[in-house]
Amino acid sequence: MTKDLKPRTQLVHGGTRRSQFGEVSEAVFLTQGFVYDTAEAAEARFVKAGEDEFIYGRYGNPTMRMFEDRIAGVLGYEDAFACASGMAAVSGALLALLKAGDQVVASRALFGSCLYVLEEILARYGVEITLVDGTDNAAWDAAISDDTDVVFLESISNPTLEVIDLKHVCQVAHAHGALVVVDDAMTTPVFSYARKCGADLCVVSTTKHVDGQGRMLGGIIAASRDLIRGPIEAYMKHTGGAMNPFTAWTHLKALETIDLRVRAQADTALKLAEALNGHPKLNAVRYPTHDAHPQCELARAQASCGGTVLAFDVKGGKQACFAFLNALKVIIISNNFADAKSIATHPATTTHQRLPDDQKATLGITPGLVRLSAGLEDAEDLIEDVLQALEVI
Ligand SMILES: *Cc1c(COP(=O)(O)O)cnc(C)c1O
Repeated sequence: MTKDLKPRTQLVHGGTRRSQFGEVSEAVFLTQGFVYDTAEAAEARFVKAGEDEFIYGRYGNPTMRMFEDRIAGVLGYEDAFACASGMAAVSGALLALLKAGDQVVASRALFGSCLYVLEEILARYGVEITLVDGTDNAAWDAAISDDTDVVFLESISNPTLEVIDLKHVCQVAHAHGALVVVDDAMTTPVFSYARKCGADLCVVSTTKHVDGQGRMLGGIIAASRDLIRGPIEAYMKHTGGAMNPFTAWTHLKALETIDLRVRAQADTALKLAEALNGHPKLNAVRYPTHDAHPQCELARAQASCGGTVLAFDVKGGKQACFAFLNALKVIIISNNFADAKSIATHPATTTHQRLPDDQKATLGITPGLVRLSAGLEDAEDLIEDVLQALEVI
């Protein structure tokens, strides 16, 4: 019904189902199960549940379904499955599609837990993993073959903000019959181009921009109806990674404001990058669509905006970097991003601590690297905060 409407309208109305009471704000259905009028009705539902017919909370729930339909519409996919966290979505999508003997080609610059799922879990189950430099199209061309089953990547990598030529990777993967799974946390659902570039599945940690206020963990797998109600739902409903209905409800309400929030945060992130670029105490400032980013043209060709996170390298390594972080007055030190509160993270000692030093170096996770997530505060206060903290070094 809302399919032809523009994204901002879909974010407010998409997927809405009203109960017999005609409530304005979506209802939260905190129920584990559902009642059947007769034994025959229960039997029929287990054979094939119709539209808006539910069986058990682990399989689906009306509030969850509203959220799935709303976000699927915004990401441009037919359907979606709501998961307990971003990692439940990433691991669910991969484990649902793969079996022993299959091959995955993935970009090397991945979120730490995604790397763990590939290198420790999938490898243990006999899936062959090949990691490539995601920014190098020739590396993808060489690694993907007819033996490849799934290609996995982060469209914009966390924390170094590398940009992948998604259309190219999808074309190569599809030419060899492989499915493309994109982890789209950094791109944000508002600026996602996964569907447009041909990705078969788009996985998003909704903990990030969808919640946007540091409260709930959640994740979504979006894809064609055949994939979602086929292997994805079958895997998720039997392994127990479904989203809690209360989270789905907070996410539904949060989608109503996500476009306004993300645009404001992205605007601030770009302003911060502009204010910091060329600062004498910094080696490099990175924001995907900013001129100083080596792949800014590709980033701009793929999306009108580079997300809500920037990264910069503080001269003087860990000691100088910690002095800078400890001197921040408005920006908080934490390890999440996409919160209304601006957050500074030191990836080398927190989110990516477990990686060996040589791997950190390969990925550009230097001792001076700071990942800065722009919040909803006034941009001038944030710029002033960063500049005064740099003076302390
Ligand atoms: C945060 C994040 C995840 C994991 O999401 P959770 O909701 O914390 O489980 C996965 N991939 C990327 C790129 C992320 O940033």
